[in-house]
Amino acid sequence: MPTSQTIPSSTIESLYSKCVATFVAAVLPTSCIVCGVFQKQSLCVSCSKILAYGGLFNYECCRQCGITLDGTEVLGQRCYECAANPPHYDETYCLDRYSGVLQKSLHQLKYQKRLAFAHGLAKAWNQFLANELEDIDACYLLPVPLSPQKLCARGFNQSWELARKIHCGKQVLSLSNALLRRHHEQHQASGNRTLRNTAIQGMFYINEKYLDALRGKNIIVFDDVMTSGATLNEIARVLKENGALRVINWVLLRTHRPS
Ligand SMILES: [Zn+2]
Ligand SMILES: [Zn+2]
Repeated sequence: MPTSQTIPSSTIESLYSKCVATFVAAVLPTSCIVCGVFQKQSLCVSCSKILAYGGLFNYECCRQCGITLDGTEVLGQRCYECAANPPHYDETYCLDRYSGVLQKSLHQLKYQKRLAFAHGLAKAWNQFLANELEDIDACYLLPVPLSPQKLCARGFNQSWELARKIHCGKQVLSLSNALLRRHHEQHQASGNRTLRNTAIQGMFYINEKYLDALRGKNIIVFDDVMTSGATLNEIARVLKENGALRVINWVLLRTHRPS
């Protein structure tokens, strides 16, 4: 008598989830995160083209801080400020400019708390940068943390919501709480880089549970927006003080060079 083979319930559940996802994708339209047009992708073909041709990732940028380079700086691949006063981080990769087409989508995520935009923004990252960065020599990806108070107020950390959805290579492990942030009543002071760096000192620390794991490793830090670079510089300083070898910034949107 032939024996009947039982299909594991996990396989059935996985097949069921795939069928539902395929059905939903085929039947329900998706709104483009930039222009709002209903079609099949979270970034429509037109907006995709704008980013493909105009995205900051296409431009000659400072290897260390990600800012666009002047003609005279291109040869050295570093801006004058990084050459004169090198930050603690080693490299920076940015998807686009803060003033570009993705700014409103990021605001929808951060200020309107529309988490679906994290999915669309991460897909944009994956579409244009994931291939280039998948073989990166790093072990961990850490989001820039919020303080517990800020996390309670917002309900989520936008950098983690993005970082957890981007493709970062099999060798890279994403850790949501290895890097922690103290609450400071006074936020980053405006003014020059020195003032901002002083204001942010002591704000970040490493979760004791991960101290050994991070030592001697190359680490990626993910931030949604990079402006002066003071936050990422302080994080890189803390990571290196605790034994990290190299610190690489991955940034969704980068502001212009200050005039
Ligand atoms: Zn669009
Ligand atoms: Zn630079």
